[in-house]
Amino acid sequence: MKAAVYRGPHNIKVEDVPEPRVSGKKVHVQFKAGSICGTDMHFYRGEWKWMKRGRIIGHDACGVRADTGERVVMVPIAHCGFCYYCLRGLPTYCTRGKFMGLTRDGFFAEKIALRPRNLIPVPEGVSDEEAAVVEPVTLALRVLDALKPSVGDWATIIGQGAIGLLMTQVARLKGCRVIAVDLEDYRLRLAEKYGAEFCVNAKREDAVKRVREITGRGSDVVVEAAGTRGTVEQTPFMVRKAGRVALVGESEGYLNLEDADEAVFFTVYISPVEYPLAVELIAKKILDVKGLVTHRFRLEDFEKALQVAGDPAEKPLKIVITP
Ligand SMILES: [Zn+2]
Ligand SMILES: [Zn+2]
Repeated sequence: MKAAVYRGPHNIKVEDVPEPRVSGKKVHVQFKAGSICGTDMHFYRGEWKWMKRGRIIGHDACGVRADTGERVVMVPIAHCGFCYYCLRGLPTYCTRGKFMGLTRDGFFAEKIALRPRNLIPVPEGVSDEEAAVVEPVTLALRVLDALKPSVGDWATIIGQGAIGLLMTQVARLKGCRVIAVDLEDYRLRLAEKYGAEFCVNAKREDAVKRVREITGRGSDVVVEAAGTRGTVEQTPFMVRKAGRVALVGESEGYLNLEDADEAVFFTVYISPVEYPLAVELIAKKILDVKGLVTHRFRLEDFEKALQVAGDPAEKPLKIVITP
């Protein structure tokens, strides 16, 4: 079968690989659609180097169960169920957790072997393409739950890529007034469509100054989803006293807390917990992922898809791969 295999930086190739065996409780899932994530791009660009060469990548996808014929979203995280965290109901932090597409073979392959507990049925009315963009929804739900904004709070979302745009949508659902920050007008236009009240192009305006102007006292909550050192370092000066900041994009950068007021800073990573809710909210049209898909490629053209994903001139958001 064909699969997208990580061979090193700038070297992800579609190769013929053996089909995965179904052992134990695993079942075969036929790949239907998947989307490229910023994480995949970190590996492609050589910014993160710890993935084992030979690994099949991809961790956001849907398929069809070979045994039942059911369409399913594939959850890329497997937790053990009996470690310290699992026993406390916190599978997110499982110490024996496996992450498909990173520490185990992922989803950009014609066939995948998974346990049924990693498969969520796709409701009718949800397209394969929509069911291929679930991971950023789960992250947005998790982050806004952790930030606990009150109705009417200012939420500043730095970075309006696919993840930031979903943060904007979820922040609106939480009753926040959203300030969207990005460098690209095409992304800010989408942010506006998803309910952002102010759109700040940080190429033209000083984003920190503008956020303080709009809010008067600083933003109640801030999400850093741009993934640059510069934007990470802006966050202490955008948040209000005793506000909360989620650092989602990139952990690099130094928070100058000496010149900052008191506030809460935390990181949030991927978790299996929000997957069923994410699928439900997409099905009920409460959250939109359709509008985030900008490009479509076949699996055999995966290298071309990566090039487009890394080319700002193509204005990429989500790139969907089909068999
Ligand atoms: Zn991802
Ligand atoms: Zn565990």
